[in-house]
Amino acid sequence: MRIVVGMKWVPGTTSVRIDPKTGTLIREGVPSIVNPHDMPAVELALQLKDAYGGEVIALTMSPPPAIRGLEYLIGMGVDRAILVSDRVYAGADTLATSYVLAKAIEKIDKEIGKVDLAIFGQETIDSSTAHIGAQTASWLDWPYIYYAHSVKLIDNNKVLVERVLENAIEDWEVEMPAVIGTHMKALKPRPVRLINKIRYKVEKPIVTWTNNEMKLDPRCTGLKGSPTIVAKTVDVPEVPRKKIVYKPKDGEDAAKWLIKTLLEDEKASKAIIKALKEGGGK
Ligand SMILES: Cc1cc2nc3c(=O)[nH]c(=O)nc-3n(C[C@H](O)[C@H](O)[C@H](O)COP(=O)(O)OP(=O)(O)OC[C@H]3O[C@@H](n4cnc5c(N)ncnc54)[C@H](O)[C@@H]3O)c2cc1C
Repeated sequence: MRIVVGMKWVPGTTSVRIDPKTGTLIREGVPSIVNPHDMPAVELALQLKDAYGGEVIALTMSPPPAIRGLEYLIGMGVDRAILVSDRVYAGADTLATSYVLAKAIEKIDKEIGKVDLAIFGQETIDSSTAHIGAQTASWLDWPYIYYAHSVKLIDNNKVLVERVLENAIEDWEVEMPAVIGTHMKALKPRPVRLINKIRYKVEKPIVTWTNNEMKLDPRCTGLKGSPTIVAKTVDVPEVPRKKIVYKPKDGEDAAKWLIKTLLEDEKASKAIIKALKEGGGK
């Protein structure tokens, strides 16, 4: 089984800022991390490899610093990784992003070997559109199933996908190749292992594909290929914070001080009373 797993290198905060002039994300000065909701997708891909053999390839379209995220996934056990990176991909909306990812998956399929599954996380913490899985499937003309919690191979070209919705658990038989979106609470990711980090140093399993390798029409990528326009951005009002430091004697003192201070604050005390009423006064 050959599985491609998507990873986005995102600012390690949910309060991203948008450039009011260009309508694009401001990434400068914000340390980045692997999108946390991609972790269940990576874990699912690795569990499938553990069960049925094959290889897992991590894929990201991003500026070069995302290599650090790919290194992390190699540390978890991913076999190799591909960074798709070029200036002509900058400023992409979800349509242009998914186009490049779909084309990269087709290139893997053609040049590395048949891809059976592409697995994506539920959404990202910086844009949260949850578009990429569905759009990539649409470009590839592959079936798409989301909110997956587990996947089992039924036969050589079919998987059984269990997905968990708010009020139901559904089992779907899906023909491969297919795109799967994992539920953000589906699986706990395994830790990074030293042996994989050593393999990373020795084998150098990350490659970069620029548009020289991808050969895509620049009119379909980046800002040029992005029909979405951020027409207006609204400034989020700053929440005023009281900066109070209290050094308690012990836990009991800390709890008493906290309750007293919160009750003295009109807004906080109303919220506490409401919560107490809703919780039956407990
Ligand atoms: C008008 C507009 C302009 C934008 N301009 C910019 C910009 O200038 N710079 C910028 O950084 N962003 C920009 N964005 C955001 C950019 O489109 C999204 O970051 C990107 O398309 C992914 O969408 P998402 O984060 O909502 O992913 P979702 O659809 O929420 O993610 C679902 C899953 O898809 C996978 N995935 C998502 N992104 C990638 C990726 N790049 N590579 C591999 N897998 C991935 C992950 O597994 C993720 O869990 C713009 C968006 C719009 C609408």
